[in-house]
Amino acid sequence: MSICYLCGLRLVSLKGLKLNNNEKKEKIVDLKRNGECVKHEEHIIPNALGGYLKSDNVLCEECGSKLNDAVDHKFIENFDFLKKLLNLRVDRSSNKNNQTKAKFYLSKFKIVLDVMWSNEKIECYGVNHHIEHEEEKIYFFGKKQRAEKYLKEKKIDSLNYELIISEFVELQDENFIFPNFNIENLNFKQELAKISAGFATKLGVDRKFLNRVIDFENKSILDKLCIYPFYPFTELDVEIEKIKQECYEHPHHFLSLFTLQFENKEEKLIFCYVELFSTFQYYVLLSDNYTEESIYHVYAQPVLFKEFEEIELDYKQGNYYFELLKCNGYDCLTWEKFNQMTYEEQKRKVNHVMEITRYDFYYEDYLDKIFTPITNKFIFNNNKDDKSLDLAFNIKDIYQTEYDRDGDIVSESVDLKKYRITYIDGFSNRERKFYALESCKFLKDKNFITRLEKYNHEKFFQLLNFIKNQMNKENPS
Ligand SMILES: [Zn+2]
Repeated sequence: MSICYLCGLRLVSLKGLKLNNNEKKEKIVDLKRNGECVKHEEHIIPNALGGYLKSDNVLCEECGSKLNDAVDHKFIENFDFLKKLLNLRVDRSSNKNNQTKAKFYLSKFKIVLDVMWSNEKIECYGVNHHIEHEEEKIYFFGKKQRAEKYLKEKKIDSLNYELIISEFVELQDENFIFPNFNIENLNFKQELAKISAGFATKLGVDRKFLNRVIDFENKSILDKLCIYPFYPFTELDVEIEKIKQECYEHPHHFLSLFTLQFENKEEKLIFCYVELFSTFQYYVLLSDNYTEESIYHVYAQPVLFKEFEEIELDYKQGNYYFELLKCNGYDCLTWEKFNQMTYEEQKRKVNHVMEITRYDFYYEDYLDKIFTPITNKFIFNNNKDDKSLDLAFNIKDIYQTEYDRDGDIVSESVDLKKYRITYIDGFSNRERKFYALESCKFLKDKNFITRLEKYNHEKFFQLLNFIKNQMNKENPS
């Protein structure tokens, strides 16, 4: 039995019932009396961000639409430009021209700018301003000819300050342009909480344990949320974040749900690490009253649209096609049965599986691949300073090794139960720490905030550069 995590009612399906609008309304009232609500399919990561993971066991129709209006809508506006520039499959048709509207957060002045972004320039099509009283300057963003009227309307024309007009925005590092994802932005936090709550519910976490994100009384998402930014505390993290954009399936979305437990405490914490577009990285505290078995679960998906073209089968690859089908829904298929199929039937089935699995993304393999160049770079060139030792330690820590009876290594694989959850701090004390808790502790430290802003800024520009390169590839001048 599944329950809507927001209203707490049992989810039932109305599929098969042919109801007109009025009948449906009556039915819903009836269901409510009975402690039930109507199932609907919810995207765990918004579809507008290219999220594919869906579930009809997390939210009811009513709560889904309530959260869509209250939280999703405003949040995805921030991603408009990414959505279009990255050619997401959600609305490929609207990507015909090279201009796209975007909302930019100018963190230097804490204002939002409406811009039109094209290959050549970023133009302010909306208007906004910022006043620096000490410098006696008014910064105006927008078309020059609109400035006078705007300043009059805002009753700031009488200030007699120097007027600095920007019609265009330059993407230079010192501009500090960033979508408004700062940690004080409630909408942003609530969306992260929604993604995490949906993911946890899909994985079977009971609603009563979502006490740090759900306001049970008001059936809404809390407005006091514990959201902590990810910061690369280890050399390994620094290297991973550097190398990511050169690796396959960039950018991607990644979710990791995990529990933390402290000595002498029965209740565990549930956290969800949310990474959107390989760029925006946060921890959401979902629960501090969890009393069941520990959970570790990850989900990853590439973001970019993948065209699918039907293939002709290659007779030498029979075994591969057979295995592919067996692993993807055709469990009972035997080699004999496979060979009895006509070529057309094999082709249809194989192509179908290839089409639906083209977004499958195995994060262990991915990490394994990006660790190889990192390991080679540091360990084999005899670099024995503290940084490389820290790096070596954390790589070793994140791998789990299986030995046989003679102590020989049987297999080595990345342990996702550690990735972005715990790390070994510094070379001398080698203490095991939790990212989320360290980040929470450091948020009071001004120096840390400065470092964090710089890191976030670098990550954002990394993504912009990736987009620029993509655009250049598609439209070589
Ligand atoms: Zn509901």
